[in-house]
Amino acid sequence: MRRRVLLKAAVVAAAAATVPLGGRAVASAASPTAAAVAALRADLARLPAGWQSRLAARLKAMGWTSPWSRYVSAATGQAGTCSQPTGIGDYIDSTLKGADGEVVNAIGMAGGFVLPFVDVIEFATDATPRTFGVNGEYTTTLTHAFRDVKRFWDIASDDILFVPMHGADVFGDERRTARSLALLYGVSESEALPIARDLRTLLALEPRLDGGRNPLFSFNAVAVPTYPGSDRPKLIMGDGIMQAMTWLGLGDIAPRSIMAHEFGHHVQFEDGIEFGGDVASGRRAELMADALGTYFLVHARGQALNTKRTLDTARSFYEVGDCYTEEFGHHGTPAQRMAASRWAADVANEARPQGAIQPSRSFVARFDAALPGILAAT
Ligand SMILES: [Zn+2]
Repeated sequence: MRRRVLLKAAVVAAAAATVPLGGRAVASAASPTAAAVAALRADLARLPAGWQSRLAARLKAMGWTSPWSRYVSAATGQAGTCSQPTGIGDYIDSTLKGADGEVVNAIGMAGGFVLPFVDVIEFATDATPRTFGVNGEYTTTLTHAFRDVKRFWDIASDDILFVPMHGADVFGDERRTARSLALLYGVSESEALPIARDLRTLLALEPRLDGGRNPLFSFNAVAVPTYPGSDRPKLIMGDGIMQAMTWLGLGDIAPRSIMAHEFGHHVQFEDGIEFGGDVASGRRAELMADALGTYFLVHARGQALNTKRTLDTARSFYEVGDCYTEEFGHHGTPAQRMAASRWAADVANEARPQGAIQPSRSFVARFDAALPGILAAT
């Protein structure tokens, strides 16, 4: 709620500053940011027709949509709103406080907030530096946990590229920005270049966006399977979502928990678990990923984390971001997610004396047998 009010106020203020009474907008004279927004809109209007639908299709194919991404879409005027007060919503409010809403929404319209993801998914290689967190603060923890989770699950995982998403990287030079914009819009790099320049100008003018280091530019964690045109699977960890976890006091376990959940999706890809296109099968896949993740975190041969601490963190983690409950891709209610995690912790703890790890397919079969009980949790 508060987020929407903030942005609306900013939009009104910007409009008042740039449209003189009774006249047409003479943005350039009134404000450099309004002029830059106008330039961006004009250059977008010159793109080959259909770029918006190509952008939407591209993002869908890349698997961008998640509970996290929905918050970004809502906060940047692209789609929906979250009317429930949530910890994540408060965090996003705090990162945009005082920002010019017109600038934020214009960048959102151009796809600016998903651009770091496009850059990583399309262009990350083994040479991409593996520093996790905006200041590298999660590098050691996540690198070790990723090494451990690869050994833990019985799937082929050597080819998974584990890479960070830093919001500012793609805006480092205009060619790099244009390269990803071209893919997103389905146009040539030279056609995308004016937009790249506009976006870089806007980022330089709005301090809250900090050149792309604002957490909204990297507010996701994504497991990407191999798909036509990409040679290997990826696990992408955005700085922004981890900054949010730190802000919420969950920085100790949540980043590993997010990574382990995403790795759970790789287990699903490798084991050929079917994802249907409906809400129920999406929820099954997400709750299963929660279970796969928690099993690894608690198991003596996984991260061997304290069960109570892990579940306490999980509870907070599930409660801070619950919105959009009826849409496809929803991860289940907080109670269902807790039930999936608690079930997985019990399975891990029953194995404690001998330390055996369930083969992933047996674990999944047991999960499916337990699923009706998990879904019934309130
Ligand atoms: Zn997931």
